[in-house]
Amino acid sequence: MDCLFCKILEGTIPSTKVYEDELVYAFRDINPQAPVHVLIIPREHIASADGITPENSAVVARIFEIIPRIAASEGLSGGYRVITNCGEDGCQSVKHLHFHVLGGRRLTGQMG
Ligand code: 5GP
Ligand code: ZN
Repeated sequence: MDCLFCKILEGTIPSTKVYEDELVYAFRDINPQAPVHVLIIPREHIASADGITPENSAVVARIFEIIPRIAASEGLSGGYRVITNCGEDGCQSVKHLHFHVLGGRRLTGQMG
């Protein structure tokens, strides 16, 4: 499958690992939008938030369980933002479900 994040999971495209377990992988965004910008992805290829179903949703719970651990290890004691872009209108550029964790400075109030 021609998916950038599946290639990162295979190791054919290098990445800077932040966390991994049997369900998820977290790595640094190549073009950080904040001092801390981590991407968290399921090992299973799910195209976007729009592809979450009762059958595959356990990985989303896992992702949200490890977000506080990543935030703590990245020193985000002042807070952070979690984002998932979905589809064309959501400006999703990589079609493998991912959650951005952004922090390390006061983020803008703008979300749209
Ligand atoms: P999206 O726009 O789909 O929500 O987010 C995709 C993210 O993937 C972007 O923030 C972009 O910087 C990041 N990205 C794109 N290609 C690579 C890559 O090869 N390596 C890493 N680490 N991040 C990437
Ligand atoms: Zn993929």
